[in-house]
Amino acid sequence: MDILVVLEDNHGSLHRMSREAIAGAQKIGGTVSALALGKNADSMAGELTNIDIEYVITVKHDLISSYNADGYTEVVKQVIESESPNIIIAGHTYQTRDFMPRVSAKLDIPFIPDIVALNSNRFVKQVLNAKLNATISASKDMCILSFQSAAFSDDDLLPGSCNIQPMEINLDSSIVRSITEEPFQEDAGDVDLENADFIISVGRGIEKEENIPMVFDLAKALGAEVSASRPVVDSGWMDSFRQVGSSGQTVAPKLYFSLGISGAIQHVVGMKGSKNILAINKDSEAPIFEIADYAVIGDILDIIPKLLEALQE
Ligand SMILES: Cc1cc2nc3c(=O)[nH]c(=O)nc-3n(C[C@H](O)[C@H](O)[C@H](O)COP(=O)(O)OP(=O)(O)OC[C@H]3O[C@@H](n4cnc5c(N)ncnc54)[C@H](O)[C@@H]3O)c2cc1C
Repeated sequence: MDILVVLEDNHGSLHRMSREAIAGAQKIGGTVSALALGKNADSMAGELTNIDIEYVITVKHDLISSYNADGYTEVVKQVIESESPNIIIAGHTYQTRDFMPRVSAKLDIPFIPDIVALNSNRFVKQVLNAKLNATISASKDMCILSFQSAAFSDDDLLPGSCNIQPMEINLDSSIVRSITEEPFQEDAGDVDLENADFIISVGRGIEKEENIPMVFDLAKALGAEVSASRPVVDSGWMDSFRQVGSSGQTVAPKLYFSLGISGAIQHVVGMKGSKNILAINKDSEAPIFEIADYAVIGDILDIIPKLLEALQE
């Protein structure tokens, strides 16, 4: 089995989900190689020199110095044609969702997106708002997969070494018809939930807007980012970029500290990849406790002020 992982540039460094994609590819087994493209291709490849990868192909060209769907589609297509991998894998990011369907259509190979697990030589994907798991296999010898955030852990990356192989690509302005502007990002200040190691997340159990500042005080004292469940955002108590869940962000911190969140499936799909989950809820039957590593049954309106007091001491 030959696998090619298409890497993504995240502001000059390798995207966390690309590392997870490599970990998933290693679990499938076979020969894993990777493709780094764009102006930061060399530095992305350089981040993988102590990982067990056959080789990293680097492609640099003025027309793909920053992301554009036409250029990326053409480059990935040409590399697939030259390497003939059985499986092409990427993280299920917005960028992948933008250009990978075009690669799939141009090469007439299936694209199975948003995979959460492997089941021997088949792939598991959630359907019906994550209420059911569907097990899917590819109808051809070659297919493209994208892995959901935190479906695999970069802690499981197999150490080793890899070579870097620059590749020349035929690209001209008749192919690249779009010009990319600077990436737009909703003004989220310095908040980067996707890459945060420690997140304090608050749900409807916080009861009212006036109680929100103590959550931020706690996060500041502990050096954490703050996120929320949807009702907190819908009530206008927190900005929408802080929402975690199926219609918000997907996070995978080392510690997810859940305060007054019930654990509805639409929330859980956004945080279940957290390495450790500490949940406080006054209802001992709350579903969040089914996935929590540490459970505290108690009232957050009592516990947060006491925690703050203890931290200030
Ligand atoms: C299409 C769709 C998309 C959705 N997308 C998302 C999404 O992206 N993110 C998301 O979060 N939700 C989403 N939802 C909503 C989701 O179904 C739940 O309604 C939501 O996650 C519940 O939020 P919650 O846990 O904060 O509130 P609740 O379910 O009301 O739970 C509050 C919890 O707090 C506990 N509690 C109350 N008071 C205290 C206290 N003083 N101390 C301790 N515990 C206390 C209660 O026991 C309860 O378990 C979506 C729903 C739909 C239909």
